[in-house]
Amino acid sequence: MRWHWGVARSRYLAGGQSLIQSMKLRLSSAGGLVDLAALPDMRGIQVTADGVTIGAMTTHAQVAHSAELHAALPALAELAEGIGDPMVRNRGTLGGSVANADPAACYPAALLALGATVRTDRREVAADAFFTGLYETALEPGELVVSVRFRRPVQAAYEKFKQPASRLAMVGVFVARHADGVRVGVTGAKACAFRCAPLEQALTSDFSPAAAERIELPSGDMASDMHAGAVYRAALVSALAATAVMRALAR
Ligand SMILES: Cc1cc2nc3c(=O)[nH]c(=O)nc-3n(C[C@H](O)[C@H](O)[C@H](O)COP(=O)(O)OP(=O)(O)OC[C@H]3O[C@@H](n4cnc5c(N)ncnc54)[C@H](O)[C@@H]3O)c2cc1C
Repeated sequence: MRWHWGVARSRYLAGGQSLIQSMKLRLSSAGGLVDLAALPDMRGIQVTADGVTIGAMTTHAQVAHSAELHAALPALAELAEGIGDPMVRNRGTLGGSVANADPAACYPAALLALGATVRTDRREVAADAFFTGLYETALEPGELVVSVRFRRPVQAAYEKFKQPASRLAMVGVFVARHADGVRVGVTGAKACAFRCAPLEQALTSDFSPAAAERIELPSGDMASDMHAGAVYRAALVSALAATAVMRALAR
């Protein structure tokens, strides 16, 4: 059988936690579904001295419960612990979350802050070039996310203000202090996850909650909806960054 990646394109099915729901609501459709569940090579967590590689089909629960990851990169395990509810964590996957690029998903903030690299069946894409818009990524039709490699930071923490109904991020901020500077990934505040340069500069000079709190971000390009206005979201980014720094320092 030949799979078509065109108009009524076939889609990969990971845990179905986003795709099946959007198909049921008629927000998306597929000419066919290619189930990735039977590919064992796409699961697992490998920790090395300078990085962590996680297979695309690794579930949020597996990331959350990995003792090795809690030791090597606790901020990422904690992020996974805070995703959705037990069903979402047991079925949803890292690869599905990254490929779906929901504007309120947690992992994209971590990929940006941890200088991650997305490995596909065709190439490697730096996280900085991966998230391109609302539910849009650098992936080409039919391109498969195989794994994600994260840099290990000196200190890191993720803080999110949950949208109470979905538990997705109204705003989420991942702060990571690396040997060569601080990276800050933000989700929930714009059409897609982004790095926050003013916070990165301030925290690279002074890694303290007060330095984050002093940053007043412009609200002009922040998202505004029934849950939170743009000014509120802009204020949340700095406030959550300050709390994340506090937690990172307390480890
Ligand atoms: C109630 C609820 C609460 C949630 N709360 C949160 C939250 O707090 N934080 C958060 O981050 N997320 C949250 N989510 C989203 C959740 O993390 C999903 O797991 C995630 O969006 C992707 O689901 P999935 O892995 O099952 O992928 P699927 O739904 O199977 O696929 C999603 C999309 O990615 C594509 N895809 C899947 N795998 C690959 C791959 N390897 N390569 C290329 N394309 C691929 C599919 O074709 C599809 O287009 C929530 C979801 C629900 C339903």
